[in-house]
Amino acid sequence: TTGVETFEFQVEARQLLQLMIHSIYSNKDVFLRELISNSSDALDKLRLETLRDGDLEADTSDLHIALEVDKEQRTLTVRDNGIGMSHDDVVQLIGTIANSGTAKFLKELKESQDAAASQDLIGQFGVGFYSSFMVADEVTLLTRRAGETQGTRWVSSGEGTYTIEQVEDAPQGTAVTLRLKPEDAEDHLFDYSSPWKIREIVKRYSDFITWPIRMAGESATSSSEDDSTPEDGGTPELETINSMKALWARPRGEVTDEEYNEFYKHISHDWTDPLETIRMQAEGTFEYQSLLFIPSRAPQDLYMQDRKRGVQLYVKRVFIMDDCEALMPEYLRFVKGVVDAADLSLNVSREALQQDRQIQLMRRRLVKKVLSTVKDMMSDDAERYATFWKEFGRVLKEGLLGDFENRDAILEVSSFGSTHDAEQPTTLRQYVERMKDGQEHIYYATGESRSIVENSPHMEAFQAKGYEVLVLTDPIDELWVDAVPEFEGKQLRSVAKGQVDLDGEDESNEGGPEREQQKKDFADLLSWMTTTLSEQVKEVRLSSRLTTSPACIVGDTHDVTPALENIYRAMGQ
Ligand code: ADP
Ligand code: MG
Repeated sequence: TTGVETFEFQVEARQLLQLMIHSIYSNKDVFLRELISNSSDALDKLRLETLRDGDLEADTSDLHIALEVDKEQRTLTVRDNGIGMSHDDVVQLIGTIANSGTAKFLKELKESQDAAASQDLIGQFGVGFYSSFMVADEVTLLTRRAGETQGTRWVSSGEGTYTIEQVEDAPQGTAVTLRLKPEDAEDHLFDYSSPWKIREIVKRYSDFITWPIRMAGESATSSSEDDSTPEDGGTPELETINSMKALWARPRGEVTDEEYNEFYKHISHDWTDPLETIRMQAEGTFEYQSLLFIPSRAPQDLYMQDRKRGVQLYVKRVFIMDDCEALMPEYLRFVKGVVDAADLSLNVSREALQQDRQIQLMRRRLVKKVLSTVKDMMSDDAERYATFWKEFGRVLKEGLLGDFENRDAILEVSSFGSTHDAEQPTTLRQYVERMKDGQEHIYYATGESRSIVENSPHMEAFQAKGYEVLVLTDPIDELWVDAVPEFEGKQLRSVAKGQVDLDGEDESNEGGPEREQQKKDFADLLSWMTTTLSEQVKEVRLSSRLTTSPACIVGDTHDVTPALENIYRAMGQ
């Protein structure tokens, strides 16, 4: 035929495909979850688009997903009548990898020497459509975008290239047909041409999908002992094989942990179970249900600009949008989940959501609930909390800068490195409990690393006194310490700023006669140094804060610290 174009996969795509073909995942079943999840997304998108654009020429009368197995041909097809893709969509979405986390992932995978660590990395990384190549040696994708007339056929064996061809009579939506690998045929564990196997996988991974997933009924595929094909009985009866129940709307007692976990994986594209599942319901004037999750690992793109997928908004079971920023502040961007509000318009825009008072109230409650969940974790399960803090502490601390209302709650669940214990971080409450008699303030030191901070001359006086100092080494620490004046009545003080008042031995105090004598002895040296260093420092003072180092540089109480200076410099200020 004419018009078959051959394209090459982008480099990253090729690397990823190689990983798939050589089956790096131990659990191959999940390819079906990925394809069904794509179909489900495509149906969501179509429904939403027809709501927004009344003129769209699309058939929405019977939106569903259909699974077809052909035992003879050893093929499996996942079909949907959703939004579909245009020719350019196919090239863009299927031929390249847009996700910026992917390149990083591939690089880390290459560098990781030991096999267990690689498996670990892989487990964090969802691969989507390409996972079909774990079970298929050829994949055909036939698609037509709703509202367009031309369809597109995409075919590839996953080895370097793919072909694309225009098709005249493609149905609306997308059908992905897998030619199953012959080597899996003998192993019933991997027999994806068996309706039983398919049914089992759907039950396990995709039961909560809110669209019907249909498959030919047992009568059509398994009753005939004599190996006759379903065709001779006419069209096989189709059965819906998922329960389609929105998990967040079901009573907690009816849902197993495993179902929650699978749902989490579906919405987050994570392959690991969540650390916490948080349920919330509100009745009354503004009704909503929410099901939120704290992941057990930070995603690759947590610090990237284009990251997406936080909390999804539904209105009465209808998907409205991903990454609904009106529902969760930036510093809780790692929280995943669903909020289903009863009284919103299906057409609600992001802008309108930001203005909506009810949404603001809901957000306040969600934020408090997440923070109280972390607090409970802290008291009930120290190990879980430690995992949480390691993965998300840096992000959570961003909230100390902007969220005044919850500042105390955030401080409460934060922990920090400290001179008390080099391994175990401490909470502020624990720090305060350990404070020595006569110690009035909470002292901290900021710096690039623990060893830099520990070896700083600023620490000497504190060491000598046996005062604990918080060791703050995240860049964000430089920023929030200026925004947070105190914790439970105790001021937060930098060891590198101002005149440190240790036990009344304030540097500015006139002190006793001994001190007076010292001042006389050093007066000439001090004035000589002040003149010589006038370009570099404001003042040279005789200090009582040092015990072994001859000199140190301190900032004015309101000066920026050296590390913050670096941050500003990096930002071009
Ligand atoms: P992800 O789902 O994480 O975006 P995938 O590799 O699963 O990554 O899919 C890549 C993209 O291809 C999707 O974002 C979507 O735009 C498109 N796509 C895949 N399957 C379908 C489908 N059945 N219908 C419409 N678009 C699809
Ligand atoms: Mg996907």
